[in-house]
Amino acid sequence: MDFDIPETTAALLERVRTFVDQRVIPAEAALLAAGVSGDEPVLAALRDEVRAAGMWGPQIPRELGGMGLSLLQHGLVSQELGRSPIGHFVFGCQAPDAGNIEILHRHGSPQQKERWLVPLAAGRIRSCFAMTEPENPGSNPTELSTTARTDGGDYVIDGHKWFTSSCDGAAFAVVMAITNPESPTHLRASQIVVPTDTPGFERVRNVPVMGHAGRGWGSHAEVRFHACRVPVANRLGPEGSGFLIAQERLGPGRIHHCMRWIGICERAFEMMCLRAASRRIAPDKTLASRQIVQAWIAESRAEINAARLMVLDAAFKIDRHGFAGAREEVSLIKFFVAGVMMQVVDRAVQVHGALGVSSDTVLSYFYAHERGARIYDGADEVHKMVVAKRIVQRYTEAAKGRAG
Ligand SMILES: Cc1cc2nc3c(=O)[nH]c(=O)nc-3n(C[C@H](O)[C@H](O)[C@H](O)COP(=O)(O)OP(=O)(O)OC[C@H]3O[C@@H](n4cnc5c(N)ncnc54)[C@H](O)[C@@H]3O)c2cc1C
Repeated sequence: MDFDIPETTAALLERVRTFVDQRVIPAEAALLAAGVSGDEPVLAALRDEVRAAGMWGPQIPRELGGMGLSLLQHGLVSQELGRSPIGHFVFGCQAPDAGNIEILHRHGSPQQKERWLVPLAAGRIRSCFAMTEPENPGSNPTELSTTARTDGGDYVIDGHKWFTSSCDGAAFAVVMAITNPESPTHLRASQIVVPTDTPGFERVRNVPVMGHAGRGWGSHAEVRFHACRVPVANRLGPEGSGFLIAQERLGPGRIHHCMRWIGICERAFEMMCLRAASRRIAPDKTLASRQIVQAWIAESRAEINAARLMVLDAAFKIDRHGFAGAREEVSLIKFFVAGVMMQVVDRAVQVHGALGVSSDTVLSYFYAHERGARIYDGADEVHKMVVAKRIVQRYTEAAKGRAG
């Protein structure tokens, strides 16, 4: 594998980094303090600057006004954007919209594309994805209770969801519901586009996370569907393909998340090193003179480098062999990178002392808001189980071969 970044990609990364340093990071504190809702004039102005600079939607196909980057290229951009919690919003590649753009592009009908994909990709509307239910284990999503029963040309949806990120202010939700209860487990559900102003769609509340309910993009809603009626034409793909489409969305989504987390690691690492080099703990000594802090710096550097190379390797394999060819790598990075991020952010907080837990730096935001990384898109334990099962399977076959 060639680890050199092609010249054109390197030049783009430099432009993105400069924009994040000079325009995004100076605006982040005020935006985060208010909770990013998506309609702030400051955010809108930054997005216009990104559009004018030709950097809008790094992962969005060109025909939809984006840059059409490969997964690997977008991963590298994502790392730069991840250095600020608002980086992805400014460049139009924030979750969950990015995933919805991807599945609408792949599976949407011409009418669905015109109504939802085009304005979503342009950043004119927002969206959310409603799969997890409070009464059922999200780790085993085949256990869904939400149903969509056909009635003439409509689906009538009943159910209860939560942690529907960014639902507050979204124009539509992509809802996972059981449409075919008699089918085999993985063919029972479909994904259906439900405009949030449909009668029977109730956003009950934004669920407080670490003490903050948030708003807009930075919130996670509890939602109820009370006989919520939408046309059957709102379904994505064939009936029963919900889990298949969800799987397609998760592969690239995990690369995006992991590279964003590497960006967070890099920002926390820079802050930790700067603080260690400048904080005096005695007249002639800084924190950086202490061996334990030196160890944190060296260990963090090694862990971030390892994590980054693992993600690039997974992205490289997906670009060449598809998601199925990189299933193991994707599970490995999902738990490994999330763990490295939490460890690095925690060390950076510790080096900053009381300042680290205050909201005067971005570290406490990362600490509180990124803890979910070890839970969403497959909890650590589930990914470890998946990887271990596949490895053990190979050894079981090898052992059988030897016995024979
Ligand atoms: C910040 C955040 C944003 C989210 N955004 C969305 C969203 O936009 N849309 C959406 O639909 N959902 C979203 N979710 C929900 C997320 O997908 C679920 O939380 C996740 O799938 C886990 O499901 P659960 O919370 O029901 O935990 P459970 O399934 O109840 O699992 C609880 C814990 O049990 C352990 N566990 C589970 N299975 C196993 C196993 N097989 N072996 C060993 N241990 C196991 C794990 O430690 C896990 O954390 C979000 C969650 C968070 C935290």
